[in-house]
Amino acid sequence: MKAIEIKNLTKTYANGIQALKRIDLEVEQGDFFALLGANGAGKTTVIGILTDLVNKTAGEVKVFGHDIDKDFSVAKKFIGVVPQEINLNIFERAIDILVTQAGYYGIPCNEALPRAEELLKRLGLWEKRFGSPRTYSGGMKRRLMIARALIHEPKMLFLDEPTAGVDVEIRHEMWEYLRERNKAGLTILLTTHYLEEVEQMCRNAAIIKGGEIIMRDSVRKLLTFMDKEVYVVSVQHVKDITTLSQYKPVVVDDTTLEIEMSRKETLHDFVARLAQTGMVLTDIRPKGHRLEKLFLEVLNK
Ligand code: ATP
Repeated sequence: MKAIEIKNLTKTYANGIQALKRIDLEVEQGDFFALLGANGAGKTTVIGILTDLVNKTAGEVKVFGHDIDKDFSVAKKFIGVVPQEINLNIFERAIDILVTQAGYYGIPCNEALPRAEELLKRLGLWEKRFGSPRTYSGGMKRRLMIARALIHEPKMLFLDEPTAGVDVEIRHEMWEYLRERNKAGLTILLTTHYLEEVEQMCRNAAIIKGGEIIMRDSVRKLLTFMDKEVYVVSVQHVKDITTLSQYKPVVVDDTTLEIEMSRKETLHDFVARLAQTGMVLTDIRPKGHRLEKLFLEVLNK
């Protein structure tokens, strides 16, 4: 049995926009799956249909073998959802938010409370358990939404752009937690714009564009399409670049270079080579939006 089976799924909104065009998609149990796509590609619509927030126009959707048209009330128990928009009651105490949510699934308070405590501890919210989201940072609110989505111990978690607006450190902590839960058996599907997130966490991915799945493969395979990457390198002063020729360096200004790196080369080697030229590195980052580039590579194949 698959965690998710989608066949011929179509969604046309009332305004005539065809957000999904007969898509087929399967996600195995235990997978960590990424649904990738640019703004408006249809990712949130897929999650909306899977969680019964959006009515599909046509097609068949099964969650752990349960058809959502026939028995959504059963399918619902298997899934936890972290929506894109923050939708917490900002005046309710964190611990109460979790216990109340458990109540919607028929979990009594004496069972919900230890679960809530465990989640709050694991997600770094323990100190603030009696505080309300009004006093939380963006990253804390998102972690509380993850705790809320997991309180009824679902088999599958949907995350719609989980790290939007979350700073780097918290993002890495969140990834670690999600990886751990996935190892323990939780199937996870996330939507994202960030290729880095996918590289760090996901095993399989599908790319959605204009309401159609244009590719579904392992993340490793998808990344082979990205054989070259351009980096912007900031240094204190640009010096002689002849020994960096394998990286096809381009001098942008007195303190900036652009280099090209293949997947076989490592940043570590580049940084060592740069140090030999006497240049002092101040920053290095990928140029441009990698996911956009990946789409172009895939589309042009
Ligand atoms: P984003 O990354 O911006 O969230 P997305 O890939 O999740 O984008 P969707 O939100 O699923 O994309 O939107 C797919 C298309 O459907 C878009 O053209 C969008 O404008 C349209 N759409 C989404 N929700 C509605 C709605 N409630 N009514 C009408 N059109 C909608």
